[in-house]
Amino acid sequence: SINNNLLDIKGKIDVSFEFFPPNSVEMETTLWNSIERLTPLNPKFVSVTYGAGSGTRDRTHDVIKRIQKETNLSTAAHLTCIDASKEELIQVAKDYWKHDVRHIVALRGDLPDNSEKPHMYGSDLVTLLKSVADFDISVAAYPEVHPDARNAQADLINLKRKIDAGANRAITQFFFDVETFLRFRDRCAAAGIEADIIPGILPVTNFNTLKRFAGLTNVNVPNWIHDSFQGLDNDPTTRNMVGASIAMDMVKVLSKEGVKDFHFYTLNRSELTYAICHMLGVRPQAQP
Ligand code: FAD
Repeated sequence: SINNNLLDIKGKIDVSFEFFPPNSVEMETTLWNSIERLTPLNPKFVSVTYGAGSGTRDRTHDVIKRIQKETNLSTAAHLTCIDASKEELIQVAKDYWKHDVRHIVALRGDLPDNSEKPHMYGSDLVTLLKSVADFDISVAAYPEVHPDARNAQADLINLKRKIDAGANRAITQFFFDVETFLRFRDRCAAAGIEADIIPGILPVTNFNTLKRFAGLTNVNVPNWIHDSFQGLDNDPTTRNMVGASIAMDMVKVLSKEGVKDFHFYTLNRSELTYAICHMLGVRPQAQP
């Protein structure tokens, strides 16, 4: 049964947590409380996103510097390439390497509406980073196909290109249909992609935000998810419990299917991620 299986995997699961740079004093407090709460779970790494717009790359780096200073966590900086020249990107990469940031989540970034062909793709950024230094590199993967892709096969070939350029693993866009992920993982293997495909798990707390985001990113929100959150618009406590329960069911099936690494889109909150990790047997390390 699923429960026996969870006992078997205890201690064999690795997790990573994604955060974003806070943009208010209140959100800053939430972020640091969450990092403090999740640190004892000993994640393999924590990553900090990079949002388009001026000044935010500094904010990504500021959060990373503080994590490096105040914790023993291994950090990964997200970096997008469509909004910068190659020279700028080389400078950013050198700067990260100098500051002991050795893991980059290498991304193209979203295109502005009606824009022309981008000057670089994710695979080009991987090549550029590898030319600067021997970074550990994660890239993005899309079980339900990236919205700009010509078709699913072209998108898969693009993922292979990123791995062949030197990326060490892929982290997926969030999803709710576990079968979709498992089929995607099989297709990656059949395409000769040997790197780990790490599921990106989004514990849902705000269903209305999710619906908007899923629409933008081509992620299917099944009817049973809609139904689960129905009538809970003004009931955040129950929403959290429902969101945690959905994610727990997903990670149980995934771990049963041999998935050993999980990446959590924490949205800077700790409660749901902490509970889901607990169910995966990921517990605070005993203090020596
Ligand atoms: P690419 O791998 O370059 O692919 C983009 C599209 O172009 C795909 O449709 C692909 O099939 C197609 N393509 C690739 N090469 C070619 C080619 N030669 N010719 C034609 N088509 C091609 N965004 C942010 O702004 N900041 C973040 O911090 C951030 N973090 C993310 C983390 C994860 C784990 C994920 C899954 C996404 C993240 N994103 C982030 C979103 C990401 O930037 C967007 O999804 C973006 O639109 C695509 O980035 P990519 O690196 O996957 O692009």
